[in-house]
Formats: sequence, structure tokens, C-alpha cells
Amino acid sequence: MWRSVISDTLTLPQIGARGVRVSWQQRFAETPDVLKSSERHRTLVPVLDFVIGGEAFITMAGPCSVETDSQLLSTARQVRAAGAQVLRGGAFKPRSSPYSFQGHGLEGLKMLARARNETGLAIVTEVMTEDDVPLVAEYADILQIGSRSMENYTLLERAAQSGKPILLKRGMVATLADLFRSAQIILDNGNPNVILCERGIRTFETATRNTFDVAAIALIKLISHLPVIADPSHAAGHRDLVPAFARIGVAAGADGLLIEVHPNPDKAWSDGEQSLDFADFEMVMASLEPYIALREAAQALAAPRPMEAVG
Ligand code: PEP
Ligand code: MN
Repeated sequence: MWRSVISDTLTLPQIGARGVRVSWQQRFAETPDVLKSSERHRTLVPVLDFVIGGEAFITMAGPCSVETDSQLLSTARQVRAAGAQVLRGGAFKPRSSPYSFQGHGLEGLKMLARARNETGLAIVTEVMTEDDVPLVAEYADILQIGSRSMENYTLLERAAQSGKPILLKRGMVATLADLFRSAQIILDNGNPNVILCERGIRTFETATRNTFDVAAIALIKLISHLPVIADPSHAAGHRDLVPAFARIGVAAGADGLLIEVHPNPDKAWSDGEQSLDFADFEMVMASLEPYIALREAAQALAAPRPMEAVG
């Protein structure tokens, strides 16, 4: 009975609803080269003797800031032993306060190079200005563009032209369309080796340092051929949340993780509250194993297929 009342009195906008659906290609039409296509299903970014975005899960780990040779070397040895492939560490630091440690600059880059020589780990480090690109590119295997620089288009162009792989961190108030626009600029400048990084965004929630937008990771994996790295450290802001955020990042489909690790987090010159000590890092890496195995199984099942319309 109720059925006939509704059908007699209501015209449901079935056709109209279908009409307002847009495809992912339409929604991100400004950045076509970031999206998957029939020719480009995934990008493998070569770094030293491995690739990012392939079957192997990649871990980047190390201190927020490069402080001393011994701090960096001990961290490099530990993270390598626990399974990391890339050593992270900032030599040029974008600090919210002008009175905080700003990084050692060139001295920090030299420490990173010594740690690479000792351990064989690849190096990812931030470049903050276009003038520093040639110098940082001389030492780094991957150039990090930080959240605060994601929309510095001159920096993006110069970094792209260095030919080094770029780890592009999502701006803290950047939409995915904004992130894709920045990635498109790097691609347009002749550099195909872009790695996207979800590190949390600002929302009304302040309990965590940022809000970890894991939906972005799943969506990027669905529609983009570029690899994506999850950064649970900057998303959480608290070290006790980092293990869970790391597992969530893997489950969302990330190609790798970026985790801050320090020999003595309480004494760190930056981001100590979100840094793991060596024992905790080892524990996190061990706890990730089943999640990484699941990811590999899911990858094996997922055959490339055309992107569908937005529901
Ligand atoms: C960092 O990696 O230490 C950093 C400053 O990150 P973000 O740009 O994401 O804040
Ligand atoms: Mn940091």
C-alpha cells in the first residue's frame, strides 16, 4: 500500500542523481598526469638499488633533525637493523618558532652522507628554498618537500629539475586536488619520480597534532599511479599513537611509512614527543609484519581495472 502512495506522489530524481555524478577523471581533470590511465597503472620510483611503489614495502626512518654524527649514525644502524631502507633527517628545518633549532644546513647534509656511507641506507632530507636545491640534491637520494612548502611552486619546479625523486608532503590545509596540482607541476617539469606523503591535516580536532587522513591514502591508491607514503609521526604528534597509526597506514594501502626515531626522544632537538626510541621502533616494525603480508596478498589479488564513477 505504502509503495503505491509513494509512487503516486513522488517523482524520485533517479536520472538527475545520475547526472550529477562525476568521474574521478572529471573531478581531478586539472591534473591528468597524476591519475591512472590505461598506459600508466603504477609508477616505480628508483632509489639506489630498490624501488618505491612496487611490491616491496618501504620504510623511511630517522630523527626529525640531524643533530650530531653519533645521534645520526646510531639511529641509522638501528633503523637499518630493524628493516628500514631509507634514513630520514632534516638539515634544513622549517620551524614554527624562529627561536627553535633551524638545522645544521650543509654540516647536516655531510652527516647524512657519512651515515649513508656507513650503512648503505638511502637519504631523504628536506629542501626549503629553490637556491638550496643543487646543494641538497648533491647529498640526498630523495628530496623532501615539506608540508609548509607544498605550494611553493618555484621550489617545486627547481626540485623537479634536479632529477632526484621527490617526496611531496601534503600541506596541512591542502585538499587532495591541491596535492595533485603540486605533483602535476613536478611531472610537468620532466620528473616522473614523485612520491606522495600523507602526514595529517588540520581539522577542528586538536587531541592529535593533525588528523590522519587515511581516506586520502585509499583514494590516492585507487586513482593515482604515484606511490604514497604514510607519516604516522607528524599525523599523531604523540609517540604512543604512532604504532596504531603506522598499522592503519599500511592497512589503508600505503607503499611505505616515514617514522621519526631518536636515540633519546625526550632530549631531541625537534619533534621528540612524537619520536620513537630504538626499542619501540623495533617493536613497531615487528608488529607491522602481518599487515604488510596482508597488503602483499591484497596487491596480488588487485588486477588493474578502469576507474569508476564517483557514487
Ligand atoms: C618533517 O618531516 O620533519 C617535517 C617537518 O614534516 P612536515 O613538513 O610534514 O611538517
Ligand atoms: Mn619532524
